Amino acid sequence: MPELPEVETVRTSLEPVLVGRTFERVEIDDPRLTRPFEPQAVARELQGERVATVERRGKYLLVRFESGRVLLVHLRMTGSFRHMPAGEPPGPHTRAVVTLDDGSHVLYRDVRRFGTWLVVGASELDTYLAARLGDEPLARGFGPAALAARLAKRRAPLKAALLDQRTLAGLGNIYVDEALWRARLHPLRPAESLDADEVRALHRGIRAALRMGIARQGATLRDYAQPDGRRGGMQHEFKVYGREGEPCERCGTPIEKTRAGGRGTWFCPSCQPSYAARSSIASSRPSRSSRQSSV
Ligand SMILES: [Zn+2]
Repeated sequence: MPELPEVETVRTSLEPVLVGRTFERVEIDDPRLTRPFEPQAVARELQGERVATVERRGKYLLVRFESGRVLLVHLRMTGSFRHMPAGEPPGPHTRAVVTLDDGSHVLYRDVRRFGTWLVVGASELDTYLAARLGDEPLARGFGPAALAARLAKRRAPLKAALLDQRTLAGLGNIYVDEALWRARLHPLRPAESLDADEVRALHRGIRAALRMGIARQGATLRDYAQPDGRRGGMQHEFKVYGREGEPCERCGTPIEKTRAGGRGTWFCPSCQPSYAARSSIASSRPSRSSRQSSV
């Protein structure tokens, strides 16, 4: 499933294609895409709209029109866009075709058909997103204190808490595992158990993992590709995700796979000790003064 870096990559390539262009003709060929609204009604609403901006919030793409209305797209599992010159055949799994006023087409494809298109008014947008999404992890104002507040009093394992879009917007299975490895935190640690240093490490780990994903233009697993058909390179940068049995690049210990938050989860059992192991290490470890004196 595309996560924040993949959706941001799609946003970056759709922006120059869409901004300033008018949706001259819109065909939507899948009732699931616009449920509970009729696809023809949604297509009619979009026709004649001129694009002001293409934005992203969490894993949502926001095509904002000059009228103030917004097309909110969630790619879910397998949704993707392709920009094609006029006259190209749409190809299989095409669920919607937007013809722009320069004659080119933007195709929306979705093999598994979990993606959604919703048109909302500017005034409804904030309420809609606020009910579903927490802080934007790469926003300038998002610091460790905000992350600490989101994790406080939550007994859920870190992995589950971070997959919850109301904690932070845009993280999914890949980037949560990568962030936890960077922060040296076990995925099953209770979210509320982190001390201030660990929250800072997690904050840094989340941002570093997401920035790496954006720099590599996302990860290409199965169907994901950018609107110009290029594939991302983040899959070559994974530290733990999908690397069961391979050595941890920090300590050489084989990466393990477990289940957390209902998802396959990869971690280094040595760099990311379990909470129980960590507590017993802490209690058996000599105190700082005795360690210093033995050096
Ligand atoms: Zn390790």
